[in-house]
Amino acid sequence: MGTTINKLSKTALAAVFACALAGCGQVASSETTSTSSAAESSQSASTQAATVQETPSNRETISQVALLQSLLQGDYYGSISIGDLKKHGDIGIGTFDKLNGELIMVDGVLYRAKGDGTVEVPADSETIPFSNVTFFDADGTQSVEGVESFKALEEILNACVAELGPNRFYFARVDGTFSKVNVRSEYAQEEPYKPLVEVLETDQTFFDYENVEGTVVALYCPDYMKELNNAGWHLHFVSKDGTMGGHVLDLAVDKAELALDATDNFEMMLPDEDFFDGIDFTKDRSEEVKKAETNE
Ligand SMILES: [Zn+2]
Repeated sequence: MGTTINKLSKTALAAVFACALAGCGQVASSETTSTSSAAESSQSASTQAATVQETPSNRETISQVALLQSLLQGDYYGSISIGDLKKHGDIGIGTFDKLNGELIMVDGVLYRAKGDGTVEVPADSETIPFSNVTFFDADGTQSVEGVESFKALEEILNACVAELGPNRFYFARVDGTFSKVNVRSEYAQEEPYKPLVEVLETDQTFFDYENVEGTVVALYCPDYMKELNNAGWHLHFVSKDGTMGGHVLDLAVDKAELALDATDNFEMMLPDEDFFDGIDFTKDRSEEVKKAETNE
């Protein structure tokens, strides 16, 4: 998969994504979608034909299960199976039923980074209370080297977004070697579920890795999404060998390839359950979002 993107970028896309070419986003999207889809389909045929149902329109859609704001209020009830979630994308982030770890999906493989620091590939029958996924078609790539912090990477990502348009959705992936990755996960919860910020005070675990090869999966939501999700970037990580991962709190990039997929459609899949129906969404949760995302 990494190879596919690199190949695309070297031919049609390399020039598009210097993050300095204004207005190239739309052109890149429409020109590359069919190419990427074709490449993706042939790849899918061998690895994920059983689970992924792609159409031209859903390849360019961010699908969201529930809201970050429902998760914040303790809705850890899985509402969609992993098998069904995979029909909506091959890349994504999220969490699991009971808040049992951090979800990272790359190239159609969905990982769970658990509270104890181990990483596994859960069964397709397990369920998901909150997630964002899409089918990844690189609209451009860029080499990054010696990026010292989360904030520095965020600046690079934001420069790309500024050029391509801040009011669209993006998934980014950063494949390479990281001189450090600081991640967190959390332990599965028991009912009655407590709000996320309270859970993180007691059941959050931290893991610091150095010189590790892997992939950062990053979601960008526009500012107007702040009632439904986290506006800006949200990063998860999984190592290449599938043994390390989690929600990224800080990192440093040694050498990596950054690929960005601009996406213009958004769909929400709301849970059909009583807990969700009883949530009060009238209160401003922006402070809780910040705390849950950054641990600050
Ligand atoms: Zn996260």
